[in-house]
Amino acid sequence: MDNPRITSIEWGVLQGQRPRTAGRNARLPEHGPTMRDPIARITLEDGSRGFGFSRANQQQAEALLGTLLNDLISVEHGVSAAGKLIDFALWDALGQRTGKPVYALAAEYYGTPVPEALRAPCYDTSLYFDDLDLDSDEEAGALIAQEAMEGWACGHRAFKMKVGRGALHMPLEAGTTRDIAVIHAVRQAIGPDIPLMIDANNGWNVNLAKQVLSETADCDLCWLEEPFHEDEVLDNHLQNWMRERRISVLLADGEGLASPRLMAWAQAGAIDVVQYDLRDVGLTHWLKTGKQLDDWGVRSAPHNYGSNFGNYATCHLAGVIANFTFVEWDAADTPALDAAGYQLIEGFVHVPDAPGFGLKLDEALFQQAVEEGGFHVQQ
Ligand SMILES: [Mg+2]
Repeated sequence: MDNPRITSIEWGVLQGQRPRTAGRNARLPEHGPTMRDPIARITLEDGSRGFGFSRANQQQAEALLGTLLNDLISVEHGVSAAGKLIDFALWDALGQRTGKPVYALAAEYYGTPVPEALRAPCYDTSLYFDDLDLDSDEEAGALIAQEAMEGWACGHRAFKMKVGRGALHMPLEAGTTRDIAVIHAVRQAIGPDIPLMIDANNGWNVNLAKQVLSETADCDLCWLEEPFHEDEVLDNHLQNWMRERRISVLLADGEGLASPRLMAWAQAGAIDVVQYDLRDVGLTHWLKTGKQLDDWGVRSAPHNYGSNFGNYATCHLAGVIANFTFVEWDAADTPALDAAGYQLIEGFVHVPDAPGFGLKLDEALFQQAVEEGGFHVQQ
């Protein structure tokens, strides 16, 4: 059957456990040990299936019943506006039906060769403010450095740490001093050649960014993420200031409620790394965005904090987007999600060449998630 209809959509939230509870960041309280991935599974009238992250509600899912697959996705155009809410499930279904991994479909979409074996570079995104109960900056640095080494033992060779302790959770000066001490401690622990990023979650202003960048100039930071809410004037000011001082830290931004002008500012050189959230915009939008950013020489690094499904899905962009920089890896164990085909080795995620995303659902646990707070709609 060339063009089957959707006959059933099941939706449920999969619970995952982080290896370590995640603390605060510059603006939010404890992130905790739990991760929640809302997953939709679509079944087509010929019995083929696909599943993926989805925020569709029951009414929206009902409206998709009976729609033809070809009206929702094609390898030439990706997922249509009508299919956006189940973007990931549609890519998975297309992969299952064609026997191709999503990264191979992405290569067809781009018109580029299919990678023979896909390895996606990733970073450990788990270094939060777990030190706020500690009195000394030295102890704080030792704790976060130890956490980085826990990531190292899991195969990570790139790290991002939260900064901006002085924005809310600590007094301004003490928090900034601690940020600087912790950056030095982590750099010391991981060695000089490992990419290290910092993320202030908009908790700074230009002067604080300059202070920390000056005092960590010997730490060879890879990128500074969200120093303050993106602003063309301020970002350009900071870029010029860094250029004058030969500080080559990239400016990264775009997660959350990004400015509608973000892409224009990236094109103009004010932003070096664009980070639209993978789940908010979907895989199709990221494929289009990545192509555009490549043309402008801007880097792509989708935001993915809080999603185990997204850890795996992001990898499928790495083979086609030339300036793809890193997968944001937020480790969790999600019993209902079987990702045995993926392996994290020396900083790279080895991606299986299995159909779709190469993931499997534990049927009993998925049914349980559908029954407990989820829904099932069918024709
Ligand atoms: Mg961030």
